[in-house]
Amino acid sequence: MIPYGRQSINEADIQAVVDVLRSDFITQGPAIERFEKTVANYCGAQYAVTVSSATAALHIACLAAGLGPGDRLWTSPVTFVASANCGLYCGATVDFVDIDPHTYNMSVSALEQKLQMAKANGTLPKVVIPVHLAGQSCEMEAIQRLAKEYGFTVIEDASHAIGGSYRNQKTGSCQFSDMTVFSFHPVKIITTGEGGMILTNNPELAEKLRLLRSHGITRDPSQMENEPDGPWAYEQIALGFNYRMTDIQAALGASQMRRIDDFVQRRHERAERYNRKLADQPVILPFQHPDCHSAFHLYIIRLKTGEVRLNHKQVFTALRDAGIGVNLHYIPVHTQPYYRKLGFKTGDFPAAEAYYSEAISLPLFYDLSEAEQDNVISAVKAMLWSGKIFLGPSS
Ligand SMILES: *Cc1c(COP(=O)(O)O)cnc(C)c1O
Repeated sequence: MIPYGRQSINEADIQAVVDVLRSDFITQGPAIERFEKTVANYCGAQYAVTVSSATAALHIACLAAGLGPGDRLWTSPVTFVASANCGLYCGATVDFVDIDPHTYNMSVSALEQKLQMAKANGTLPKVVIPVHLAGQSCEMEAIQRLAKEYGFTVIEDASHAIGGSYRNQKTGSCQFSDMTVFSFHPVKIITTGEGGMILTNNPELAEKLRLLRSHGITRDPSQMENEPDGPWAYEQIALGFNYRMTDIQAALGASQMRRIDDFVQRRHERAERYNRKLADQPVILPFQHPDCHSAFHLYIIRLKTGEVRLNHKQVFTALRDAGIGVNLHYIPVHTQPYYRKLGFKTGDFPAAEAYYSEAISLPLFYDLSEAEQDNVISAVKAMLWSGKIFLGPSS
């Protein structure tokens, strides 16, 4: 099976991990700070806070934004469940904004309309989480303008998007947002096994995030509420968690960062190869917004279902049966049983549901060879034409 994504680990990565294992610190040592500095410098952000996963990052980013019971969080329905669950962890109410039919990211016009209605009803969100699907940034300047007008905090879920850019600013620069979250799960652009990070240019948010990732405990006398009793003193001043990353993981992350531009460039080469070889097929290729340079975490095609004999499920199943590890990113979150119990239903976000009925993620990762990619392309073409009732070239 050719997977849809996988990590690329080289000897330098392995050596970096081994070096930590032989050192004095295997957690919260110098590698954490090195990794944070590397990513912050790369992205052009002031502060970076490394945590155990992007899910943990989203949770404490929401808490740092002050999200709590009675508040509202909005995100895209076409995302991994973690982008929405973080609101529920904080006791907030979660709602969704339908997607743009071309980029599959949160629609700015749908967001604006929903904000106007929410303002009239007194139900404005405290936090909005735009998700950069497949690694292509949302239209952040417009979202930032709305954030200023309607007074919400913007947390970018850039789990797919490290290495990408928007208007020549690296995603993670937080030029148009309050915080940006990355994931370092093995299928993502760079990996630490499990891991996540929050970037921000706001020193108060950075301080809160550091507290929340480690039990809400400080050893800094300037942060303490009371005079320290002695040199052993620490104070718990917030209800935090153990969301720390180990030095072992951070060393891997810092080592992976040396290849990030290479990783993204190879993904673009492979994506362009798919574009060329699938151009005459009855599929919609990934639209690239002129303001964005995607990190190309995912290569998502949409079937022109009216022009293909097999239906979406049949094409998908046949590809899996042929050893092609296609995937579907994502089942719209509002249709998950847990969210249906909160009152959401099919029909709530039609653009997201239409996308779901046609989308297929093809394998795309750094070590995908041209020969493997050709196998994928042949299999896709075979499935699109199978049944011999291909209705002719797409317009
Ligand atoms: C992977 C992913 C997450 C969660 O990342 P973890 O590091 O696995 O917790 C959140 N949001 C999106 C969009 C993701 O793709």
